[in-house]
Amino acid sequence: MTGCDDSFDIIVAGAGPVGLSFAASLAKSDLKVAMVEPQALERLANPPFDGREIALTYASIRVLRELGAWDAIPACHKSPVQGARVLNGSSPFALCFDPPRGSAEPLGFLVPNWQIRDSLFKIIRLHDHVQLLCGHSVVGVTNSHKGAVVKLSDGRRLTARLLVAADSRLSRTRDLLGIAADVNRLGSSILICRVRHERAHHQVAIEWFDHHQTIAMLPLMEGVSSLLLTLRASEANRLLALDDDLFLMELTDRCRGRLGKMTLASTRHTYPLVTTWAHKFWASNAALIGDAAVGMHPVTAHGFNIGLCSQKQLARRILTARRDRRDIADPDMLQRYENCLRLSAAPLYYATNLLVGLYSGEHAAARLARHVGLRLAQYFPFVRHGISAMLRR
Ligand SMILES: Cc1cc2nc3c(=O)[nH]c(=O)nc-3n(C[C@H](O)[C@H](O)[C@H](O)COP(=O)(O)OP(=O)(O)OC[C@H]3O[C@@H](n4cnc5c(N)ncnc54)[C@H](O)[C@@H]3O)c2cc1C
Repeated sequence: MTGCDDSFDIIVAGAGPVGLSFAASLAKSDLKVAMVEPQALERLANPPFDGREIALTYASIRVLRELGAWDAIPACHKSPVQGARVLNGSSPFALCFDPPRGSAEPLGFLVPNWQIRDSLFKIIRLHDHVQLLCGHSVVGVTNSHKGAVVKLSDGRRLTARLLVAADSRLSRTRDLLGIAADVNRLGSSILICRVRHERAHHQVAIEWFDHHQTIAMLPLMEGVSSLLLTLRASEANRLLALDDDLFLMELTDRCRGRLGKMTLASTRHTYPLVTTWAHKFWASNAALIGDAAVGMHPVTAHGFNIGLCSQKQLARRILTARRDRRDIADPDMLQRYENCLRLSAAPLYYATNLLVGLYSGEHAAARLARHVGLRLAQYFPFVRHGISAMLRR
């Protein structure tokens, strides 16, 4: 799987969950693929817990199943979400999302990010024509008549017909390609940890927009939830630095006893909140997938779901071009990829940003708008059913 070739059909920058799923989508073809990833091979092969529990839609589960990754994830790591409640401040009113009446199927499943990475990595390593170049990053990109010329951090130069950037929302490859992006640093962070708690969660997720904080409680195994606190970055860092006892005390206080007595069940992690929208999803001999193309705010839990969809759309076009002996970096094909992804991702991206603006505002008008918005959504069932249906697609 590792070697010293320097000429490939495709180079993927970034072995995150989207880069890995893209390589897995191509793994059964005869395309020669290289994956460039700064992390060490050992770490990719044994991804550590990173706090993230990814809410997967049924469409994403289908893609992971087709790749062989879904069945490789142990059942104990797939937590069903039987419902979701949205709360506003201290109001007892809750906007409810439930599966349609008569359906026994949950809204979706929560799976730890490290498990998704692990199962995808195990697929990649079975395929000799996917080469992993770990411990390196992409530091330069130029074009030749044959395709992209990629410079690595160790000075090596690789060539490929197509370079695919999957190197995060702050993608360096995207910058090197000269593709502009709206990068919005929100000044807040998400602090995440797992807690064991006294009260049952009944597999129902809670999103609670409280004053100066948002708390998400994601139901995992019985008596265990993942807690996500969205706070000013300085507040999140202060909490991260507290010792376990003080941290738990403050957490219990912030949750106002909603889960009963709590104990810590994992390490704590923080993520700065940054959203990204690339102005183009392709350039000459190159394309963007995953967060490098569309970096969603996590509040609607759709970043990876969109990323998985983006890699599938691109991989499908590449495989068809290969089968028909056409160019795998054809500009018309890449433009069609962009059109399709733009159409599916833009409504969610902008609706999510609108929601974030509405729910993070602390002034009286924003509070009133939230209050009215939640009640309207509750009394117009098509809104709730539309969102539930979107999750279950
Ligand atoms: C707190 C939190 C909760 C979330 N919850 C959900 C959820 O419930 N549902 C959902 O769908 N999404 C969720 N997301 C979003 C999801 O995690 C991301 O959309 C997903 O990780 C994007 O995958 P990616 O592979 O595109 O990028 P990343 O995961 O960012 O991976 C990028 C990879 O590129 C590598 N890299 C960086 N620079 C370079 C370089 N120069 N050259 C080569 N490689 C490089 C990195 O090392 C990394 O391995 C959440 C995100 C956060 C922060």
